Amino acid sequence: MNDCLFCKIVAKEVPADVVLETGRALAFRDINPQAPTHVLVVPRAHYENAAALAAADDGLADDLLTACHAVAVQEGVAGDGYRVVLNTGPGAGQTVFHVHAHVIGGRSLSWPPG
Ligand code: IMP
Repeated sequence: MNDCLFCKIVAKEVPADVVLETGRALAFRDINPQAPTHVLVVPRAHYENAAALAAADDGLADDLLTACHAVAVQEGVAGDGYRVVLNTGPGAGQTVFHVHAHVIGGRSLSWPPG
């Protein structure tokens, strides 16, 4: 999509601190980290949110989750535990409408989330 920030990051038109690249996903550090590890994992293809991604039914959601775990291992947070968050829709706090999983770790995480 022409006006999508994360499509532009995938296309390397906007700089990002990329930590992992796979055939169908890209992971980069969140510009406003909420924890020592805060990485966003996005599919290279544009889907508005998790619901649209799930509806695509082509295994991409599986690839995204696999990439999230790979990021957690690479960042050294898989052992202690980490959180994967997909804010889906404005009411849940989604602000960028290219589906992205937040991989958050490196500190104690409380529940419920705010
Ligand atoms: P959402 O609120 O779940 O949609 O998450 C969007 C995330 O994108 C927020 O945590 C922002 O800090 C992050 N973000 C916005 N612009 C950029 C950027 O240019 N690079 C990296 N992260 C960004």
